[in-house]
Amino acid sequence: MGDRIQVNLTTDDIPKQWYNIIPDLPEPLPPPKDPEEGESRIKNLPNLMIGECLNQEFSKENWIDIPEELVQLYAHAGRPRPLFRATNLEKKLDTPAKLYYKSEFFSPTGSHKVNTAIAQCYYAKKQGFKRVTTETGAGQWGTALSYGASLAGLECTIYWVRAVYEWKQDRRTFMELLGAEVNASPSPKTDFGRKLLEKDKKHPGSLGIAISEGLEDSSKSPDAVYCLGSVLNHVLMHQTIIGLETKHQFEIFDDYPDIMISCLGGGSNFGGFVLPFVGDVLTKGKKIKFIAAQSKVAPNLQGEYKYDFADYAEITPLLKMYTLGHKIDMAPIRGDGLRYHGCSPIISLLRNLGYIDTIAYERDEKYVFEKSKLFINTEGWLPAPESAYSICCAIEEALKCKESGEKKTIAFNVSGHGFMDIPGYREVLEMK
Ligand SMILES: *Cc1c(COP(=O)(O)O)cnc(C)c1O
Repeated sequence: MGDRIQVNLTTDDIPKQWYNIIPDLPEPLPPPKDPEEGESRIKNLPNLMIGECLNQEFSKENWIDIPEELVQLYAHAGRPRPLFRATNLEKKLDTPAKLYYKSEFFSPTGSHKVNTAIAQCYYAKKQGFKRVTTETGAGQWGTALSYGASLAGLECTIYWVRAVYEWKQDRRTFMELLGAEVNASPSPKTDFGRKLLEKDKKHPGSLGIAISEGLEDSSKSPDAVYCLGSVLNHVLMHQTIIGLETKHQFEIFDDYPDIMISCLGGGSNFGGFVLPFVGDVLTKGKKIKFIAAQSKVAPNLQGEYKYDFADYAEITPLLKMYTLGHKIDMAPIRGDGLRYHGCSPIISLLRNLGYIDTIAYERDEKYVFEKSKLFINTEGWLPAPESAYSICCAIEEALKCKESGEKKTIAFNVSGHGFMDIPGYREVLEMK
């Protein structure tokens, strides 16, 4: 036999605990803060969030047990997911580097976001809620939460930025097939939405507006709770299931990464993939270069490290993070999930301490999608537009190894599949 192409694990190997990096960080994580004026956002958090998620957000435990029923749900969602060696891509690039990729594209809804959606819905159900609400921009988070809610037996209400809702019909139908109620935002269902619609019947909406509607809906309905898909500590922790599996798989490959790469919007897939390895760097003296791949439309890791709101409407507490400012306007791109003004506080602190590198690619996405096409041609999987950024960066690093002759081990995460994003590929690559 030639080189091993993939390592998969069995359902018995699904991690039984999530990794919480907070106690291992070289400096304490700056806590959330209230703004100087207005009501306390922090005191209001228990009214907005699932209790167990709020506990996890501030936990000082290194390892948090994943309830047995939740491990079962992960199995239900097709975990574990294989780690592949990209031998065809290596040959095509003629690089001495070894390339490995984690296949979050096997997700039932198309992205890694199900890893936290399932957990949040499980805890919401346990706490007695009957319904979950959320906003969605690109649509991946809305689909993941619809799926999580369907597994947990919860109702699900989605507020979807109208501009996207109108052109992504297939994804809307997908959410509805999963049993969710999908509203174009601004919607007539909330006071905030009605006010905006009075002024403009065809208001295109924004992520900030959709968040405000999701929050208003859940706060007016005692049996509903709001869920968030990225940025927060507990979301990254749920996602560490990706990196924990990957670590186990590298043991079986008898290899270990020199470089780890993923795309970064709010930081959840990047964090989930790398944090268990960052733990090795912090506590075991390992050396790994971590690179977050971003768009020049939202290069939040190149922004300012300061306290800022996580949402446009200023409902959340202030978080210490790299941010472009919570009111910034970002141009549209196909890798829409990468358009967020701030980066998760955990990744931001690590970046500030020099553990994380970043690169941002041009807005027109042509270069990124060409690299993704090379991956499609050689490895055969169709990546989500966001994941194309991860692939692009990995290919660049592999080509650097070709120049230097170094045999580095490069691991990258493919956070989702692109089956619902083919029009984006067609447009950017100017195909007929
Ligand atoms: C949402 C999304 C991202 C970006 O979000 P993060 O929280 O930074 O991971 C990346 N890839 C896919 C496929 C997504 O759906």
